[in-house]
Amino acid sequence: MPELPEVETAARSLAPQVVGRTIVGVERLDWERMVETPPAPLFRELIVGRRILAVRRRSKWLLIELEGGWTLAIHLRMSGRLTVHDAAEPARHHVHLVLRLDDGRRIFFDDERKFGRVRLLDAAGLAALDAAHGPEPLDERFTAEALARALAGRRTRIKPLLLDQRTIAGMGNIYASEALWLARIHPLTPAASLNTGAIVALHGAIRQVLATAIAHEGSSLRNYRNGYGRQGQNQEHFLVYDRAGMPCQRCGTPIERIIVGQRSTFLCPVCQPITG
Ligand SMILES: [Zn+2]
Repeated sequence: MPELPEVETAARSLAPQVVGRTIVGVERLDWERMVETPPAPLFRELIVGRRILAVRRRSKWLLIELEGGWTLAIHLRMSGRLTVHDAAEPARHHVHLVLRLDDGRRIFFDDERKFGRVRLLDAAGLAALDAAHGPEPLDERFTAEALARALAGRRTRIKPLLLDQRTIAGMGNIYASEALWLARIHPLTPAASLNTGAIVALHGAIRQVLATAIAHEGSSLRNYRNGYGRQGQNQEHFLVYDRAGMPCQRCGTPIERIIVGQRSTFLCPVCQPITG
């Protein structure tokens, strides 16, 4: 599933292709359940004629800011991708939403698994979405102290807590495993038992794995592509994720895969001893 680096890459690659253009039509919307709000007829009515002002990201949501105070919020979920195509290019049947632009090109929302979601939000709706998510880990306001506050008193184990979007925005299964390995923290450590040194290490590790992944244009495990239809490269650089049985890059011990909260979790049993 796309996480912060993949959605950030999607937003950055989409922006230069669509900012300044006007949406002149909804050419296809054949899976209306993907539009969570407003009802599909109103969605079609409200979105047409609006110019695209900016494309950005909040947590794992890709936000297309439109004139008039509306924001098209898109969650790629399992298999969603957003790409831009010339007028002549046919949309394959996994493309469930097609937005036509004033220069004839079209934005395709391709979603094989149909878990992707779309919301057209006014200012209050956008504020609610923002409030439902924790701090952005790459924001300068996300300090080690801010992470310590977010973890204080939490008896939850650290790995599932990192996946909780209300605690930290944008982290998912891949980058939680990566950050914990880098910080030498066992995924089952109770969050509240991490000492200051461990929290400082985790803070740095979270930022490092996310920034590195963005530099590699995200990780493409299955469906993920950026706004130009290109795969990311970060899967070639995983530290620990999906490396069960392979040697730890620090100590050579075979990497273990365990299940935490029904999610595959990868760790080095020597570098990441259980504490707390
Ligand atoms: Zn190791």
